[in-house]
Amino acid sequence: MFQGHVALRPCGFKSHLRHFILAIPVRLMYTMIRDKLNGNKFLMIDQDEFFQREALKQAQQAYEEDEVPIGAVIVSKDRIIAKGHNQTERLQDVTAHAEMIAITSASHGLGSKYLTECTLYVTLEPCLMCATAARWAQISRLVTGTNDPKCGYSLYGSGVLPAKLPVKKELLANECSELLTEFFRSKRESY
Ligand SMILES: [Zn+2]
Repeated sequence: MFQGHVALRPCGFKSHLRHFILAIPVRLMYTMIRDKLNGNKFLMIDQDEFFQREALKQAQQAYEEDEVPIGAVIVSKDRIIAKGHNQTERLQDVTAHAEMIAITSASHGLGSKYLTECTLYVTLEPCLMCATAARWAQISRLVTGTNDPKCGYSLYGSGVLPAKLPVKKELLANECSELLTEFFRSKRESY
């Protein structure tokens, strides 16, 4: 019995060869799944989580540019059509919020001021300006990360967004919040 186990255990060159051969389809499969994620044909993870992670990448980019780390993406027909991250410092423009940049970019891309079949993913609850812009743009769905009890649109009551607009809140809220906390902590330490 013991010898049987030894005989079955792969070792040496053959073992390496076996791993190499096995690694090829696994790697190809991984690439295929990764590529198909953008095309939404073989989604292996929650779709909202996938797109919210893309918004988080935008927030991370803002962080690296020393901007308050907030990111947004806009998705139409299961594809990202626009991305944006906060650029208020770089542009010296208080309206250069992630959502505003993404909305403008999406409208340019679609050639339409209305984004009626689009979902806006954003890492922080939008402010009144951005929520109103989303309303004007007729965004069809909103997904938000961490809540913003100081500046979020919710402070202004339930009438800011259309009552029928589907809103999914606090998706990846902890990760979105941690990035902001880390940013402001580093700012305090640098002063
Ligand atoms: Zn805003």
